[in-house]
Amino acid sequence: MAESKILLVEDDKVQGSATKHYLESSGYNVTWVEDGKSAIKIVKTQDIDLVVLDLVLPDMSGNEVCRWLKLNQDTRGIPIIMLTAQGSTSDKVASLTAGADDHLTKPFNESELSARIYACLRTKALQDELREKNRQLEDLLTKLEILAITDSLTQIYNRRYFESVIEKEFENTLRYKTPASCMMIDIDNFKSVNDEFGHRIGDVVLKGIANIIKNNLRKVDVVARWGGEEFIAILPRTTKEDTFVAAQRILKAISDNEFEGVNRPITISIGIASIPDESIDNAEKLIHKADTAMYEAKKHGRNRVIISE
Ligand code: GH3
Ligand code: MG
Ligand code: MG
Ligand code: MG
Repeated sequence: MAESKILLVEDDKVQGSATKHYLESSGYNVTWVEDGKSAIKIVKTQDIDLVVLDLVLPDMSGNEVCRWLKLNQDTRGIPIIMLTAQGSTSDKVASLTAGADDHLTKPFNESELSARIYACLRTKALQDELREKNRQLEDLLTKLEILAITDSLTQIYNRRYFESVIEKEFENTLRYKTPASCMMIDIDNFKSVNDEFGHRIGDVVLKGIANIIKNNLRKVDVVARWGGEEFIAILPRTTKEDTFVAAQRILKAISDNEFEGVNRPITISIGIASIPDESIDNAEKLIHKADTAMYEAKKHGRNRVIISE
């Protein structure tokens, strides 16, 4: 704390010089200015750790300087010790109301000033430490929240998160009487990809397919990894016809793509189910119908899109 930077605001030259000298001999780095405007300018442009502020200044009152510093987001954390006239309770009350952290009556004992500076800096250091710890904790919580909803291999959403999203989307669709569609996507003969090219390449293909699906849908659509080599998507406010167009686009993008380490095209099968549909009264049934349609696509030769009847 000894290298802390202190701004001394004192218009009395004799007093200012003596205080500066004393604080410097105590090891502090001191900047001395004689009016309020200069004080604000210094605090704005330099890293000041603490301000020793005289109440009576030539251009503005110390309370005004104090209020300005405490209202400003960037400077409000800087401790301020106000120097007030002896015996004036109203001065003390006014300075504390303006936001001063402490005050000292003039003429003051130098060692008392030193002790008050030390106490203010220590409190500030503890507050800073606490703020930093809180920030780290918030970062960690955000990371954990993201981790809890993300599939570790493909970095798209996981099944659990998708289930909560589709429940909500189902309710929205009922309430606002808008359509919505679900796509179930399964890679064709993926077992043979692993067998031919190895599991590591299989993982690369899974990641690539997840990206292609995501990139071919809108931001409002939610895509997740449903199982091993199965993906699922919910398309809010989208009819089955529009979903079919999107599904064909994904199908083509994947069969056209050259995957690293794989010397042949990879295809997928897609099943689509949409609401409103009289036979679907919950999200689970919507997923089940999309899944059944996907199996129909497999039965009919794979590499195709089937819309549920
Ligand atoms: P179909 O066209 O009928 O879907 O055939 P398929 O081979 O894709 O389906 P099957 O269910 O027989 O096999 C799925 C394969 O997906 C088997 C499994 O080893 C593989 N798989 C599941 N998860 C992963 C994974 O995380 N990484 C890799 N590399 N392979 C996976
Ligand atoms: Mg003065
Ligand atoms: Mg499968
Ligand atoms: Mg498969």
